Amino acid sequence: MDNCIFCKIAQKQIPGKVVYEDDVCLAFLDLSQVTDGHTLVIPKAHYSSILDADPEVVAHVYKTAQKLAQQIVKNCGAQGCNILTNAGEVAGQTVHHFHVHIIPRYDEHDGLTLAFKDRSQEVDLDDILNCVTK
Ligand code: AMP
Ligand code: ZN
Repeated sequence: MDNCIFCKIAQKQIPGKVVYEDDVCLAFLDLSQVTDGHTLVIPKAHYSSILDADPEVVAHVYKTAQKLAQQIVKNCGAQGCNILTNAGEVAGQTVHHFHVHIIPRYDEHDGLTLAFKDRSQEVDLDDILNCVTK
């Protein structure tokens, strides 16, 4: 896709700190380095998010993310990691080319906060199940 920064990195038109590459995907260091070792895995083909990506490509990208996460956690001396993808601006997606973040976690004060608010007392799970499965 013209003007897609991740397509340009995949096509080597702009540089990236490449961690891994194969025919289908590319992994490179995220410029922001939310924590040391923060890495992105992208398909070389353009999909705007996981929601419109080819399932086979999604499987390959996540399989690669698992393998790289194991390597990064070990090599960087992390205690664990978050592996996540943002789909849509409402979810915080800023680059509209499907990508998976691997964010190594060192301790609870390492700079990343993912707050999951417990709403179990406010919602009706049966209503929500009806919505999810309709
Ligand atoms: P998201 O908010 O999920 O769309 O994440 C996009 C990520 O891409 C951000 O964490 C940015 O720091 C990262 N990013 C943007 N441009 C580049 C680039 N040229 N090289 C590496 N990472 C980038
Ligand atoms: Zn793209």
